[in-house]
Amino acid sequence: MTAKEIRQTYLDFFKSKQHHIVPSAPIVVKNDPTLMFTNAGMNQFKDLFLGEAAIKYPRVADTQRCLRVSGKHNDLEEVGIDTYHHTMFEMLGNWSFGDYFKKEAIAWSWELLTEVYKIPKDQLYVSIFEGDEKEGLPRDNEAFELWKQFVDEDRIILGNKKDNFWEMGDTGPCGPCSEIHVDCRPFAERLAVSGKSLVNADHPQVIEIWNNVFMQFNRVKDGSLKPLPAQHVDTGMGFERLVRVLQGKTSNYDSDVFQPLIQFISEKSGFEYSSSAEPGDKGWNEAVAMRVMADHIRAISFVIADGQLPSNNKAGYVIRRILRRAVRYAYTFLNLKEPFLNQLVPVLANQFEGVFDELYLQKDFVQKVVLEEEVSFLRTLATGIQRFEKYETKNIIDGNFAFELYDTFGFPIDLTELMAREKGLTVDMEGFNKALAEQKNRSRAATAVDTGDWIILNQDNDTQFVGYDLTEIETEILKYRKV
Ligand code: ATP
Ligand code: MG
Ligand code: MG
Ligand code: MG
Repeated sequence: MTAKEIRQTYLDFFKSKQHHIVPSAPIVVKNDPTLMFTNAGMNQFKDLFLGEAAIKYPRVADTQRCLRVSGKHNDLEEVGIDTYHHTMFEMLGNWSFGDYFKKEAIAWSWELLTEVYKIPKDQLYVSIFEGDEKEGLPRDNEAFELWKQFVDEDRIILGNKKDNFWEMGDTGPCGPCSEIHVDCRPFAERLAVSGKSLVNADHPQVIEIWNNVFMQFNRVKDGSLKPLPAQHVDTGMGFERLVRVLQGKTSNYDSDVFQPLIQFISEKSGFEYSSSAEPGDKGWNEAVAMRVMADHIRAISFVIADGQLPSNNKAGYVIRRILRRAVRYAYTFLNLKEPFLNQLVPVLANQFEGVFDELYLQKDFVQKVVLEEEVSFLRTLATGIQRFEKYETKNIIDGNFAFELYDTFGFPIDLTELMAREKGLTVDMEGFNKALAEQKNRSRAATAVDTGDWIILNQDNDTQFVGYDLTEIETEILKYRKV
């Protein structure tokens, strides 16, 4: 099955179970001070669970574009190094708002995985909440009994509060969850080791694919749990992980979700992609760079398409940091010294035609924005790298130097930290933060208003900040194009 078919099969399956299929919410969250980017399928339904919005459809399913690069969920450092954490990913989800509960949710997830997708039963593990006496949380016996109808007891793993109890916040809806893991190791290897210890990332080929959350309690202010008047189901399945499993690959990047991007990068850069290279092997750095670029362009493109442009603060800076991280990987490891990432935008957008038309229809615009960002960073990147290479230290990079890289050469601090790590060095963050705070005080004194939404470099490489609107950006891009 292709990725497109796999996604459609999920939606069709839940449609056949009377679910209403809804569109993905934008990846960029506006008007919520607690969240910058959508990081789970349930985000758009938060008010329903809190009882603050009317339930229109009691059963809903969708595929939600998510981003996990900030806050509680930050998977950025994993990307390109492991085979299954991405910055941007799709979360397939089905929900019951006060309608069905554990019995149906468990039976349907098992039916879909084993009968529709035909994942062999002996490759699946499930987990249930073991309870937590200290916290007064009961073990989820109900889920345990339900799973026993489908799986042998030794494939039901008991999980702790961290992995198997979901809470929206300090107060509010919460409940136990049940995860499904797939063991993708070769058959002989699977036979040789007992499964129990392997779940929860003990083995890189045993991966979590689906989380079923059962909201049945409301945690009130004094910390105690009250039963919710209506019980809800909230599930999330990692689409790229599912595709990898169904296509029989050992890495998400080998599936048809990522291969068009990786092949494009490989052809244009002239470096071969080695999926199996291990750290230290020849080809490892290049492979990481290709994976990072293929991953990051997805985050960048969807965020821009959903209305957040790269900028120097908040969500805009998160995306600028990711973009600069990708540009530097391309520059250093694949010798791509000219703007390149933007060429990936049409490759990506074409994959999402008819799925996320938000990107497909805006691909020219997104490409232009990425191009402009690349042009501006590439103006200072080479000099910054030279300065970094010449900098002499045994173990720690001085905060003031990190600040100079940031301020003069546009190196986000996490990029400097990454480059430092590659050399076995660390960065004096305290010193950096101090220098940053001093600069902020200086500029606060100079201007009362914080602009800084779009960066435009003038000829002598000074940065100049102006507010943005689309026509302004496009004018700038057109100017660049004419040069
Ligand atoms: P993991 O333990 O692998 O980090 P998680 O427990 O943080 O995953 P959940 O919050 O339970 O993930 O999200 C539901 C599903 O979304 C997961 O079972 C997984 O399949 C998928 N998922 C989570 N984070 C990522 C990511 N960074 N990239 C790709 N898929 C992800
Ligand atoms: Mg995680
Ligand atoms: Mg997990
Ligand atoms: Mg989970």
